[in-house]
Amino acid sequence: MGNKKFDPATRIQRLENFGEFGGVNPSITDSSTFTFMDAKTMLDTFHGETEGCFLYSRHWNPSNKALSDAIAAMEGTEGAWVTGSGMSAITTVLLQLCNAGDHIITSVTTYGGTYAFLKNYLPKFNIDVTFVNISDLESVEAAVRPNTKLIYTESVTNPMLQVSDIPKLSKIAKQHDIQLVVDNTFTPMILSPYNLGADIVVYSMTKFINGKNDGVAGAICASNEFIAAISDVNDGTAMLLGPVLDPMRSSSILKNLHTLHVRMMQHSKNALYLAKRFREIGLKFSYPGLPEHPDHELMNSIRNEEFGYGGMIAIDMETAERAASLMELMQQRGVGYHAVSLGYFKTLFSNSGKSTSSEVPEDVQLAMGMSPGLVRFSVGLDHDIESTFDLIHSCLKDLKFV
Ligand SMILES: *Cc1c(COP(=O)(O)O)cnc(C)c1O
Repeated sequence: MGNKKFDPATRIQRLENFGEFGGVNPSITDSSTFTFMDAKTMLDTFHGETEGCFLYSRHWNPSNKALSDAIAAMEGTEGAWVTGSGMSAITTVLLQLCNAGDHIITSVTTYGGTYAFLKNYLPKFNIDVTFVNISDLESVEAAVRPNTKLIYTESVTNPMLQVSDIPKLSKIAKQHDIQLVVDNTFTPMILSPYNLGADIVVYSMTKFINGKNDGVAGAICASNEFIAAISDVNDGTAMLLGPVLDPMRSSSILKNLHTLHVRMMQHSKNALYLAKRFREIGLKFSYPGLPEHPDHELMNSIRNEEFGYGGMIAIDMETAERAASLMELMQQRGVGYHAVSLGYFKTLFSNSGKSTSSEVPEDVQLAMGMSPGLVRFSVGLDHDIESTFDLIHSCLKDLKFV
């Protein structure tokens, strides 16, 4: 069973920044380089041997350190490193863990960009990838080879909302001495993958964590050893490819992180309400918060209860044409925006097959059960969700879809 005592929200609440002349928010680092009083300290810092010293902002800077410490606290990992995008967090981890000739096992349903990187980009480096149904643990285990370095999955997959059994995947990974890497973008606070046995947790902070759709960012949560390895000046992937987050953005994300728990509860509450009403009107949809979802019990056994089941719902309109007319009408009538991305305060909807999963070939989309008419909702923070449902219902009725 999940550890119900794990409390990411209180871990964030307990972060403090005060002292004589200290602002309540950490100061923004408006510098790419930092001064040293003596040459030896500079040299030691280059070799990663000095605490609290900053050399150059691509490596570390105080604003990114403050945000990294906060994300690590939320996740329960020793350390974290924040990146310029979710994709750079993912690609940094994969390129750090794998050498040419290595092998990765991944869920076939992942974010389209991740799928494209695994499928189209990694062959350049002769890194092999096996795509599996991540819920079929036997096929995961059967895919392990002597050169396998890691299992990659999303805690709740995009856009199918399949829940990964992190404790069991972790057991398989440990048995074979390989790493379990989990993308927790859809379910910050709700699931705590490291606490459930993942080795490394990655985020697109562009989504729920920031929650404002005003910037792109990512995070890598891992052991101090791994964070030191990716930021090593000689061979660290983060240091050498340079996907650093800008400190200005970092500082604004840190402030938004302090409201994440309240936002997640409201996203979840609204999504559960809509899911129940969708069930009443006989819509075909997927939401892990209802008993009809095949992973509902699994979700119950691993989630941090008070944050609900998340803000994402996938409805099936069967064809891309029907999905398009519904989305256009919903936007006209003020349900939210027809836009990709998620975790925003307003409701966003998009047809996954034609947008964020368009990198996944159509035959693979069909094989994983993704309908061409799948409309992915990121439910917003609406105060009056009942009237939002009424608007959606009126659109469905006027289009004669219910
Ligand atoms: C958006 C997203 C990403 C990519 O993040 P960016 O910040 O856009 O680079 C990765 N994984 C998931 C699940 C996402 O939704």
